[in-house]
Formats: sequence, C-alpha cells, structure tokens
Amino acid sequence: MTTTQNTPARSARPARQQAILTVLDVTEVSPRLVRIRLGGDTFDNIVSNDATDKYVKLLFADPAHGLVPPYDLTELREQSPEKLPSRRTYTIREIDEDDKWLSIDFVIHDDDGIAGPWAKAAQPGDTLVLSGAGGKYAPSAESDWHLFIADHSALPAVSSALEAMPEDARGVVLAHVAEADRVLPAVPAGIEVAWVDSDEELISSVRDLDWLPGTPQVFAHGERETIKTIRKFLKEREVPREALSISAYWARGRAEDQFQAEKREPIGSID
Ligand SMILES: Cc1cc2nc3c(=O)[nH]c(=O)nc-3n(C[C@H](O)[C@H](O)[C@H](O)COP(=O)(O)OP(=O)(O)OC[C@H]3O[C@@H](n4cnc5c(N)ncnc54)[C@H](O)[C@@H]3O)c2cc1C
Repeated sequence: MTTTQNTPARSARPARQQAILTVLDVTEVSPRLVRIRLGGDTFDNIVSNDATDKYVKLLFADPAHGLVPPYDLTELREQSPEKLPSRRTYTIREIDEDDKWLSIDFVIHDDDGIAGPWAKAAQPGDTLVLSGAGGKYAPSAESDWHLFIADHSALPAVSSALEAMPEDARGVVLAHVAEADRVLPAVPAGIEVAWVDSDEELISSVRDLDWLPGTPQVFAHGERETIKTIRKFLKEREVPREALSISAYWARGRAEDQFQAEKREPIGSID
C-alpha cells in the first residue's frame, strides 16, 4: 500500500527496496555539473555492485498526490497509474559503504525536466528516493586498449572508470562537453583525451580516429541519435559485441519516461 499524508504506513515492502536519502552536501564540480552527496538510515537498501557505470533509479513523486515513500509501485501501477512517480536514471559517481553515503553528478541541462531542476535547487536536508543499483561495465584488464565516447551525461561514468584503471592502461577518451565543464579525475598517462564542441564533431572524431593496435574495449554513451550514428562506425571497425558497452543515456526532445518506453520500439534501438 502506498501511504499518503493522511494514512499511516503499512509494513509491507514494495518488491524493489527504496532508499530514502537526505542531501548531505552539494558541490559545484563545474558550471553545469553539480555533485550531490546523499546518506541516511535506509542507505543499505541500495545494493551496490562492481560495475564502474553502476546506476540508480531516482523516484520523483508529484507533491500534489501526497505520496509518502517508500512508494508501492505495484499498487500504484495497478490502481492509480497517474500517480506513479517519474523515474530518472543516474550514475553513482562515488559510494562509501562503510560511511553509508553515495554521490551523483547531475548535469544541469536546462530548466526542462525533473531531475536536472531538482539538482539545481538542491540543498542539504532535501530528500531523494532511490533504488538500485544496476550496471554492467568495468574496464577489463584483458583489453589491449580502451575507447570512451561520451557526452556530459556519461562523463560521471567515464570518470569512475578512469579512476578504476591501472596506471599503464592505454586508450582514448572522445568527449563532447562544454569547455567550462571539461573536468576529469587523474587520467593514466597512456590515455589520450580529446574534447570536442558538438555531437557532430564527436561523430567525426570516432569516424576518423587512428585505431590503436589490438582490440579495444569500448564504452559509448550519450544522446540517442548521436550514439546510433557512432554505432555504425563501431560496426565497421568490427568491435566484438562483448567488448562494447553502448546505449543512449537520453534523447533530444524526450523526457526520460518516453525515452525509456521507446527502447522497445525501432526508434529506440541502438544495436
Ligand atoms: C544508465 C544511465 C546513467 C546516467 N547517468 C547520468 C549522470 O550521472 N548524470 C547525468 O546528468 N545524467 C545521467 N544520465 C542521463 C539522465 O538520466 C537524463 O539526462 C535524464 O533525462 C534527466 O532527467 P530530467 O528530469 O532532468 O530531464 P527529462 O524530463 O528526462 O527531459 C526533459 C528535457 O531535457 C532534455 N534532456 C534530458 N537530459 C539532457 C541532457 N543531459 N542534456 C541536454 N538535454 C537533456 C530532454 O531531451 C527533454 O527535452 C544517465 C542515463 C542513464 C540511462
């Protein structure tokens, strides 16, 4: 049962456990990237994993519905789907399971949407409801070299991957990020970083890249149409599917609800 502000909570738990966390602090990483650190008593409801691209689902309920977390999504789906919280997907940038906090880097993309504006206004003490974590990619020590292709939305995942790599790792980062937001952690000396100013340049930089010897492991995430075009070039290079992490993180002109629903339609297919 989903509780409202007028009814007491019942002990039955929704199938996927939710963490109801509090904003501990807010840091400006760069003008359009805000890092929010979150913690709280229900932190352990987030089950972490070894992926460097691990992600959580954020649940934003419309305050007009008066829902109190944890939300019973099954019941809401069956009985009042119009009240279902909106879901947004975000990379866990850092997690400290001993001290029970995690951080997320939010792109402040514009005034549209839910998560971006929430992050822009976030203050210590605010509440965020999360579930997860998912995630599949981690840099493989077996790969000859590593290729990262990203826009601002995937920069947190690329940063986490770079932090997990050995000093002798080799490869290339190609990233479309606004000049003021070009922030990465320490990059292994053998990883070259090339920043570009547009998705068109990102596409051409992939097309024209001088491939290093051997087979790379590729991590390619960003805007849907851009990633679809990049996929074609990666197919031409015959990157084996098992060495490839590729998906859209967002789609121009689509809120995430629609973008996720379209993954089941031809327009949403990357492969
Ligand atoms: C696995 C995964 C991990 C992700 N990790 C991160 C992360 O760590 N940090 C992060 O900031 N994002 C991340 N994203 C992307 C994020 O989920 C989307 O950007 C999401 O749409 C933002 O929600 P919103 O409520 O702000 O905007 P929505 O309501 O979803 O969209 C509103 C409008 O804003 C546009 N829009 C959405 N995102 C962007 C963007 N990034 N740039 C420009 N316009 C945009 C949409 O096209 C739409 O027109 C990740 C996505 C996935 C799938």
